[in-house]
Amino acid sequence: MGVGLPPIYAIIISLTIYFGIRIFVGRRKKMIEESVGEGICVKCGSKIENKKCPICDRKKFKNV
Ligand SMILES: [Zn+2]
Repeated sequence: MGVGLPPIYAIIISLTIYFGIRIFVGRRKKMIEESVGEGICVKCGSKIENKKCPICDRKKFKNV
């Protein structure tokens, strides 16, 4: 390898990225779980509030 970083740096960088992504995904998953709380709508995937989907309920409301 004449160009680029020495292999040890490549390994360190890939490990850093790997664990960084793992931590990031873990945190985001936790955040989503916390923010979802009551669940998500099976139709549109939006957050359920007061056991109702704000989007589907609004649509229903409009169609009436
Ligand atoms: Zn919905």
